[in-house]
Amino acid sequence: MRLEQKLLHSYGHNSSKKCEVLFPSQVAELRDFVASEASSATFSIKGAGNSFGDVFLPESHSVIDMSGLNRIISFNPLNRTVTVEAGVHVGMLQQYLLESGFYLPSCSGAIDNTVAGDASANINGKDSWKHGHYFHNILSLDLLDSAGEIHSITNGSDEAFLSIIGGLGLIGIIVSLTMRIEPVQGSMLSVSRATTGSLAETVSCLVEQCKEPNDFAYAWVDPLAKGKKCGRGVVESSRFVQGSDDNLTDLLNKPDRVLGMPDDWFWNSYRRSWNIVQNLNLHEPIFRIVNATRYQFLKRSTANFQSGYFKYQFPMMSTLPNWNKRFVKRGMQEIHCIFNELRFETAVLELWGIMSQFGLYPELAALRKHKHDDAYLSFSADGLSTTLSYDRYGQADDELYRMERKLVETVIKHGGKIYLAKFPYITSEELRVMYPKVDQFLVQKKRFDPENRLVSSASARLFDNLT
Ligand SMILES: Cc1cc2nc3c(=O)[nH]c(=O)nc-3n(C[C@H](O)[C@H](O)[C@H](O)COP(=O)(O)OP(=O)(O)OC[C@H]3O[C@@H](n4cnc5c(N)ncnc54)[C@H](O)[C@@H]3O)c2cc1C
Repeated sequence: MRLEQKLLHSYGHNSSKKCEVLFPSQVAELRDFVASEASSATFSIKGAGNSFGDVFLPESHSVIDMSGLNRIISFNPLNRTVTVEAGVHVGMLQQYLLESGFYLPSCSGAIDNTVAGDASANINGKDSWKHGHYFHNILSLDLLDSAGEIHSITNGSDEAFLSIIGGLGLIGIIVSLTMRIEPVQGSMLSVSRATTGSLAETVSCLVEQCKEPNDFAYAWVDPLAKGKKCGRGVVESSRFVQGSDDNLTDLLNKPDRVLGMPDDWFWNSYRRSWNIVQNLNLHEPIFRIVNATRYQFLKRSTANFQSGYFKYQFPMMSTLPNWNKRFVKRGMQEIHCIFNELRFETAVLELWGIMSQFGLYPELAALRKHKHDDAYLSFSADGLSTTLSYDRYGQADDELYRMERKLVETVIKHGGKIYLAKFPYITSEELRVMYPKVDQFLVQKKRFDPENRLVSSASARLFDNLT
């Protein structure tokens, strides 16, 4: 099996680790490695490494990179299912499915995630109000345990399923999955936009749009608008229509240029210039103007138009590829939190208020509606979520720490929870409050990995006695 020494970092550049990365390309070699006496060491599992936080980084030094197990095993249009290896990239799979008149629901905004990485984080998308989180896509999976044995596990018939989905790669190694797919008319979307004047209006408009015949709905909000306008935004809804998205192949060949420039060059120059703006304390007024301009522009532009699926689903990829390179020096953080609809507005305004006391603001605030599932560490709930993302540049570590503790406390106070794959500072006590089924999760951990061979930076932090 190929092995490389690498410095791995989380997508948000907030955590990193020098480690030994193993690259299996066949299930048999992976099984032999895991079962062999020589490999009694601990390891973590990595898909594409697109998690903003530390969930795939190892606690000791070995990582198994699953991206070489990337074959589509079978496609059954009559049963509406597809069976794939764990490391299949979602963009490539979506292209294959869309060209055959289907799509895989509940996908995130990253084009090159692996399907098993998505299952292990139980990701959500702009269609999660309709199709739920990734949990609802998966019918069955094959799991390699830490003794080298493969188990076939079906949704609904084994409790293990509830611990593997959203289980952050700590129960076993997913080697393949069978997933439910949805028929579509074409790979084009008919999109409608509505602008709103306040957070309350945005929430009610979003909730209103989360219904048939729409396939997707989400909102972008402006947390920097003053007074009653705070939280005004744009609610976008869309549904599949006939037609073919001509950009499918272009976007899959991961562009490494921004505005015609090599991405490294572009993002280095951007970061240096923006850091000057931050040092002069001008970043917030500039963001305020950018948000207001964006809002006014969208308010005046066409409210109904067509978009290819890929551009809509992976907007950062199509306009600002590799945008995380902007944060290489200090990293970025994203707290993605979810609340009951009745508590949502109060909680969000309070969270924005806390950030502002520390001179910060969400750089990209999106709202989504979700649907509950039973996975033990699932971020899902019947409620609404928002993202609080911020640049760590120019902030003292102790101040950031104080702000983050206040934000987490506030989420808990309002009965909410924080997405584990994104934010790498949840403690084991906070985890137990937000995710009360931790003990059921740990029972399954003991069943499939009694010697705790599967550990990560995140598991060492989240579960007191796993190391
Ligand atoms: C631009 C961008 C947009 C995003 N948008 C969203 C969004 O809209 N919604 C959302 O929910 N998330 C979003 N994310 C986060 C990202 O989609 C998830 O973190 C996803 O899990 C990353 O997939 P990955 O293949 O990179 O997995 P990794 O980040 O490599 O790993 C994620 C977890 O899966 C485990 N894992 C990986 N492979 C296996 C395996 N074979 N068996 C068992 N465990 C495994 C890892 O140990 C880790 O715990 C976004 C990320 C980016 C970069």
